[in-house]
Amino acid sequence: MNILVINCGSSSLKFQLINAENEKLIAKGLCERIGIDGSKISYTPDGGEKEEKEVPMGNHTDAIRLVLEALTNEKTGVVKSLAEIGAVGHRIVHGGEKFAKSTVIDSEVLAAIEECNDLAPLHNPANLIGINACRELMPDTPMVAVFDTAFHQTMPDKAYMYGLPYEYYEKYKIRRYGFHGTSHSYVSKRAAEVLGKKYEDLKIIVCHLGNGASVSAVMNGKCVDTSMGLTPLEGLIMGTRSGDIDPAIIEFIAHKEGKSIDEIMSVLNKKSGVLGLSDNLSSDFRDLEAGYHEGSARAINTMETFAYRVAKYIGAYTAAMNGVDVICFTAGVGENSAFIRSMICNNYLGYLGVKLDEEANKKRGEDIAISTADSSTTVMVIPTNEELAIARETYRLV
Ligand code: AMP
Repeated sequence: MNILVINCGSSSLKFQLINAENEKLIAKGLCERIGIDGSKISYTPDGGEKEEKEVPMGNHTDAIRLVLEALTNEKTGVVKSLAEIGAVGHRIVHGGEKFAKSTVIDSEVLAAIEECNDLAPLHNPANLIGINACRELMPDTPMVAVFDTAFHQTMPDKAYMYGLPYEYYEKYKIRRYGFHGTSHSYVSKRAAEVLGKKYEDLKIIVCHLGNGASVSAVMNGKCVDTSMGLTPLEGLIMGTRSGDIDPAIIEFIAHKEGKSIDEIMSVLNKKSGVLGLSDNLSSDFRDLEAGYHEGSARAINTMETFAYRVAKYIGAYTAAMNGVDVICFTAGVGENSAFIRSMICNNYLGYLGVKLDEEANKKRGEDIAISTADSSTTVMVIPTNEELAIARETYRLV
């Protein structure tokens, strides 16, 4: 069965068509600037040329119509008709406390996702638009919602409660939810598989270091803590998000700069992180790494601060699980930057008996252990594959 995986943002839509039986990618692409001037679609059939074209897309239904046209195109398409798409898997950012698992979408599920909109006002409404657009164009195709928060629903209450008046939890469900759950789940399971060990016997820390970044602690096959919170703003220093700060800074900036809460939230989400810390050098770690080697003081401090925060979370989660067997790196930075991995492991993880295999650490694109055979803790790079994980969940449920 072919599964169409859809990841809808407010003005973008990423898609992949995956054969669920052999787990091969059939085609992938991206619609950008939906509802804005200069909308464009890119489409790449597996093994074929990437096509890009500017086409007006007034809304997400237009975008999905174009995706379906590309997939069924006579010349460059990969399926003869929509009947060859067996199901659609949608990535949904926030499932609140309602969804601890992926689920087949019906009107009740749609209403329950809508109830979570308050918790993720930037993301969930766009995800819902994507579902509704697919329902309109493929009314008979089953659809599954796969939640970014679901994997973290096993956290104990001591990990998800904040030190706030309890009534806020009761009234508004303010608590830690965590995100990137599909990635943390995929990577931790894959690590156990590659090591040939039982998932249920391991204490694993997953460092998902991309433009968005989070760490999770997975003990005996269950997530017990994670660094993102009610929203993806908490935790590590990210591309443009601040991560953990003293909440009183918000009031301080409001007074000093005369900014509203909304303006400050925009600074914390879009102008902070390594971009802000590097004094606007870049949010891209490739630029920062280059700056580091050229001796730029801001780049050096930014990289060091980023690595230090990751190392502190690894320490915290080692304590939370009373030990750690495996530390995994994944996502754009975690998979590609040998330099950051080495900074974290060599500067801070000696107390865990971590010994990095410098040759293995240089490799790319493989599921691989990058620690030496005598390292007390195993360190691995596991390229994440959220789309495949969504396709697997969708296939399992339909
Ligand atoms: P993601 O959000 O997982 O797609 O990660 C995207 C980020 O990965 C980019 O913004 C870059 O900062 C980072 N990245 C990609 N390739 C490299 C690389 N070779 N070295 C360091 N960072 C990289």
